Amino acid sequence: MTKDKKQKAAFIDRDGTLIEEVNFLSRLEDLQLFSYTAEAIRLLKEDGFLIVVVTNQSGVGRGIFEESAMHAIHAQIQSDLTLDAFYFCPHLPTDGCRCRKPNTGMIEQALKNFSIDLENSWIIGDKAIDVETGFNAQIKTALVLTGYGREAASELERKPDVTAENLLEAVKRITNYELQKTNAEKSSI
Ligand SMILES: [Mg+2]
Ligand SMILES: [Zn+2]
Repeated sequence: MTKDKKQKAAFIDRDGTLIEEVNFLSRLEDLQLFSYTAEAIRLLKEDGFLIVVVTNQSGVGRGIFEESAMHAIHAQIQSDLTLDAFYFCPHLPTDGCRCRKPNTGMIEQALKNFSIDLENSWIIGDKAIDVETGFNAQIKTALVLTGYGREAASELERKPDVTAENLLEAVKRITNYELQKTNAEKSSI
């Protein structure tokens, strides 16, 4: 793979998707990966995905916890999983920033920092705003039913490309989705 070859990305929500949902998580002892998270990340890496966490952390803007506490949590996740990047929005919903999901600022930042094949990129999350971020960025969307996923499934008027029980099931569908597409391309030659 050449340096400037574009790589597809998996933009993954943090709370309720990559790790257990904890309201305003700030303590390392409350950080818990799902049992299948490492396996899901491995499959994505094997399939050539860049793995980018995109997380709204308004607890910072609300003064509920220090940004340093969030960085400590990201450092722990990073030591467990070795991902490509973490982007976070520390702002309040009322701040009107570009980065808070469902706005696409974090994805735009990733596009500046990496060479990303947006057309084959996905967002995976447990809230309607995650899926809506994907719609806004015109990438493929996967809703997981962990965290707030069941509420999100009933809220969303437009359906995501994939709805799955959890991150691992979503990743299996996403990597098969790619495989099916590749096979279809091959058979059309
Ligand atoms: Mg979430
Ligand atoms: Zn923001």
